[in-house]
Amino acid sequence: MLFADVVGHEALGAKLREAARSSRVAHAQLFEGHEGAGALALARAYAQYLTCSQPGEKDSCGVCASCQAHAKLQHPDVHWCFPFFKADGQDKATSEPHQAAWREAMLDGAYLGVEDWLDRLGADRKQLFISVDEALEVNRKLGLKSFHGGWKIWICWLPETMRVDTANKFLKLMEEPTDQTVMLFVTQHADRLLATIRSRVQRIHVPNLALDMAAQGLVQNFGLAPAQASSLAHVSDGNLAMALRRAKAGSDQPDLDRFSAWMRACWARDGQAMVQGSDDFASLGREGQKRFLHYALHLVRQSIVGHYGVHSLVRLTEGEQGFLAKFSRFIHHENVLELRKALEDAHSDVAGNVNGKLVFVDLSLRVHRLLRMPPDAN
Ligand SMILES: [Zn+2]
Repeated sequence: MLFADVVGHEALGAKLREAARSSRVAHAQLFEGHEGAGALALARAYAQYLTCSQPGEKDSCGVCASCQAHAKLQHPDVHWCFPFFKADGQDKATSEPHQAAWREAMLDGAYLGVEDWLDRLGADRKQLFISVDEALEVNRKLGLKSFHGGWKIWICWLPETMRVDTANKFLKLMEEPTDQTVMLFVTQHADRLLATIRSRVQRIHVPNLALDMAAQGLVQNFGLAPAQASSLAHVSDGNLAMALRRAKAGSDQPDLDRFSAWMRACWARDGQAMVQGSDDFASLGREGQKRFLHYALHLVRQSIVGHYGVHSLVRLTEGEQGFLAKFSRFIHHENVLELRKALEDAHSDVAGNVNGKLVFVDLSLRVHRLLRMPPDAN
C-alpha cells in the first residue's frame, strides 16, 4: 500500500517517512485511531516504505521486488497478526487457517472494521482473540533470518483482543527484540492494552478524518459518486470503514425497512406482524440482533435531535430522513427516555443469551405502549 492510497494524514505520513529515512525507527510502535480513521492503512504504507529498495521522499517506489510483494500481500518479511477464533479440529489456536481470509480482506483495502472481519470469517457468534499459541508462532517467525536482508515487520491488528497471558508473551518479545525487527500494533482501544505494553511503544495518534476529507477519499480512492460520498461521509461521521460498508450494502436498506415495518406493527399492536417480526429478528443471530438494536437506538436518538432543529448533528441517509420526517412525531419528551431504556434492556438481554423471539415480543409490547403515550400538552 502506498502513502498515496491513504486518505488524509499527510503530515503524519511525512513524519513516518522521515523517521524511516533517518533510520530512527522505533522497534515497537502503536498506531491508535478509531475504526475507519486509517491507522491500519498508515501502518501498511509505512511497512512498505521501510522495506522499499528505492524509497522516494513522498512514497515507496511501487515497482521494486519488495513493493510488488507488498501489493500482492505476499511479502516474506511481513507477518500479520489479527484476532481470530480457534478452527474446529485445530490442535493449536493459531491464525494459520485464517491467513487466506485476511489476505483477501487486505487486498480489498485497509479500511476494515471488526464487523467486516467477523463477516469474512463467518464467525458471527464467536468471540475473537489472539492466542498464546499465536504469540509463540510470531516469536518463531521473527527469529528467522530476513528474506530480503532488510527489516522484518510484524503488524498486529487489534492487540486489545489479547488476553493477559498472550500480552505477556508479546511483552517479552518487545523486551528482547530479535535483530532488525519492527513491531507495529494497530489499535482502536489503546486504553485496553496492558500498561506495560503501552509504556514500551512509540505512540502514533491517528485522528478521525474530517468529513470533507473522508468524502474526498471516497471519491478519489474508492470511486464513489460525489453526492453519495458526501452523504456517506456525513452519516458515518468520517469513519471510512462504516461508509464503505454502507456503500456495499447498497441503497436498499434492510435495516430501515425492518425498523419501519416493526414500528408500524408496534403502533397498531398487530399481533401477526409482531410474530413475523420476531421470527425475522431471531434469524439475524446474536450479533445481527445487537446490530439491529443499535440501529434502532440510532434512529430514536436522531428523531429527537431533529426536533431541536440541530440539523448539523443529524446523521442520516436520505431514505432515513424520509422515514423520520413522518415517524419522528411519535417520539417526544414523554417517551424518548423509556424507549431508549427499552432498546438498551433488549440489547443486554440479547448479549446475555436470552432467546431472541422472547426479547423481541416483550420489546414490541413495551414499544407499543410508549408510542401510544400522548406528547406533553404543554
Ligand atoms: Zn519499492
